[in-house]
Amino acid sequence: MKNNTQRNKTSVIGIFGMHCSTCAGTIEKKLKKEPGVILARVNYATENAVVDFDPEKTSENAVADAITRAGYKAIVQNGSHENKGGTHADHMKEMKKEELSALRKNLYVGAALSALIFIGSFPEWFSVSLLSHPGVLLAMATIVQFWTGRDFYVGAWTALRNKSADMNTLIVLGTSAAYFYSASLVLLGMRGSMYFDTAAVIITLILLGRYFEAIAKGRASDAIKKLMGLRTKTATVIRKGKQVIIDVDEVKVGEVIVVKPGEKIPVDGVVLSGESSVDESMITGESMPAGKKKGDTVIGATINKFGSFRFRATNVGTDTMLSQIVRLVEEAQGSKAPIQRLADSVSSYFVPAVIVIALATFAFWYPSMGFTFAFTALVSVLIIACPCALGLATPTAIMVGTGIGAQNGILIKGGEALETAHKADVIVMDKTGTLTKGKPEVTDIFSYVGGNDTLISLAASVEAGSEHPIAEAIMNEARKRSIRPKSVSGFFAHSGKGVSARIGKDRILAGNAGFMKDNAVKITKYDNDIMPLEQEGKTVIVIAKNAEVAGIIAVADTVKENSAKAVAALKKMGKRVMMMTGDNERTAHAVAQTLGIDEVMAEVLPGDKAARIKKLQSDGHKVAMVGDGINDAPALAQADIGIAIGSGTDVALETGGIVLIKSDIMDVARSIELSKYTIKKIRQNLFWAFAYNVALIPVAAGALYPAYGIMLDPVIAAGAMAISSITVVGNALIMKKHSLRSME
Ligand code: ADP
Ligand code: MG
Repeated sequence: MKNNTQRNKTSVIGIFGMHCSTCAGTIEKKLKKEPGVILARVNYATENAVVDFDPEKTSENAVADAITRAGYKAIVQNGSHENKGGTHADHMKEMKKEELSALRKNLYVGAALSALIFIGSFPEWFSVSLLSHPGVLLAMATIVQFWTGRDFYVGAWTALRNKSADMNTLIVLGTSAAYFYSASLVLLGMRGSMYFDTAAVIITLILLGRYFEAIAKGRASDAIKKLMGLRTKTATVIRKGKQVIIDVDEVKVGEVIVVKPGEKIPVDGVVLSGESSVDESMITGESMPAGKKKGDTVIGATINKFGSFRFRATNVGTDTMLSQIVRLVEEAQGSKAPIQRLADSVSSYFVPAVIVIALATFAFWYPSMGFTFAFTALVSVLIIACPCALGLATPTAIMVGTGIGAQNGILIKGGEALETAHKADVIVMDKTGTLTKGKPEVTDIFSYVGGNDTLISLAASVEAGSEHPIAEAIMNEARKRSIRPKSVSGFFAHSGKGVSARIGKDRILAGNAGFMKDNAVKITKYDNDIMPLEQEGKTVIVIAKNAEVAGIIAVADTVKENSAKAVAALKKMGKRVMMMTGDNERTAHAVAQTLGIDEVMAEVLPGDKAARIKKLQSDGHKVAMVGDGINDAPALAQADIGIAIGSGTDVALETGGIVLIKSDIMDVARSIELSKYTIKKIRQNLFWAFAYNVALIPVAAGALYPAYGIMLDPVIAAGAMAISSITVVGNALIMKKHSLRSME
């Protein structure tokens, strides 16, 4: 499951100190300018950057340095950029703890001082004269402004240095205006209303919002932590003839590992000796234990049940299946849905626009209402407009959505896949290996020259070089009959048609009717034998020797348990379900009928599958393609959303936007359902984020004042802002409880 090209490397780098999504945008821009960086996606919600780079031009550490230079903390995956040691996950956890405790300390100080400032600001309500002393108020407010609120200044400054403005800019402008105006009154000994309480309470409330946000972000990325938690720490290897226990990171490819009953298998490999059954449910979702004997592959992080065995390590470290799944999920969570790009570009125009509106508000009210009124309105506008929740709306939902998927064996490779899946109105399914088990068996043999064994021998000899499931069925039949394939020359596989080879001087063909026609082999004489077999849903292979039919072999594949159920579920969701196959019309229709599929595209050559999808798209359909084979890959890529079956070929897995790890066809419906649910949540989030901001800007600017006398106090504006962030994050946490089983 490798999804990067040979030359480029992909790294996931943890980032700390991002104050909002605008920071993410800033870092992303910086990274893209770095030499050697091909692609960079920075995600505020997952707090990481996924960077594709050319290892000849730059390194992971150089990329991390660039992040540090932009004013943030960077943590690289292996070892550490800060030389603290430990794994990436441990490191992130520690940083998170530090971040939370620092935030909490800040919050306590801010809250205590704000309360005192508030009491002191209303001498007519509270008679604590010491607190009302202008000098004391100034001192307390200064601490809140520049110590408690220092992150806002740092953030705003970082943004400014990067020639942008973000929500920190708005907070700094708003609270600084209030603070400096009041401070100058005190220092110059002038009279006038002071805004120390406004500035302090706003800072505290926004900090409170950020504190909740930080906690929630930690919870939302549980999926990755759960996956990482599956790893083992140690492995028992044979070194110099002795069993030694070593750290799992030190296992090398080719080493022999000993696994005892009840132990976790440390890395991926191939069994050398011994026998056992292994619980692979954590990776494949298959609850039945898998039997393992010599030559079978084992997956790291799965649990050995009763027997013990030795195996040779084939994939270690970041190459194991588990590491690759983790990386895919991380990348997916860090990727942006198209809807997010919209939100990003909106928020980059939003901040400057708000500053202009705030100034215009002041200019509008000052002549008629005086300084105090106009100034309060200006501060309110700046505070209410912070696009903080806007930046969180999409990433949190994508993160939780892909996380739910990963926990249910549905790997979603990116926000785009998640967003487009539910839009598909036509679902095209490959037959062999997707709707059927892909393990056909020989059911009928008709030999017209010589006996059945002679025919199977001919067929097995030419099929020996083919990797097609049909070839495997014939090889198995030969094995059962203890027939050894003869050596052949000039073997050739004609994709979607059959195979050909020479045995001595004889030219042997094995394939479908179309293949026989291509080679001028007449088969009409045998139609009476062939047709009934096809009507039963069997695939008929004709064997020809020197342009004469020697016999026919029928193979049948059993449909997967859930196929019919999945088709029904998709139809119920209002989708058009089609079957696409290289198999002949009659067989295809027979299989389709048992599954409840009414539309069939049969006899489609592998090279034409993508073109068929394109045709559907040009008719105005959004198409999802479900497939498993190499021959499905172009179609998976062409479709609006490609869904690959986990048991399929690597090429298919790489091409699909969604991978169904459990190979359960029912998961097609679940993926679509999950996509629909996630997008619904994103829309809700965007609405809430925008509703607060946009709806309240005119109120803050005093639009309701002339008619109703309603003004928005800056403190209430800050509260509303905090609530919008909490709504969005809370929504993400509600999502986590969503069960995919509910739709069955
Ligand atoms: P699918 O779309 O069902 O995965 P393919 O495109 O791989 O099928 O193959 C289409 C048809 O071509 C098969 O149904 C079979 O008739 C024929 N065929 C392909 N490969 C072989 C082979 N190795 N031996 C015999 N027939 C083959
Ligand atoms: Mg197939």
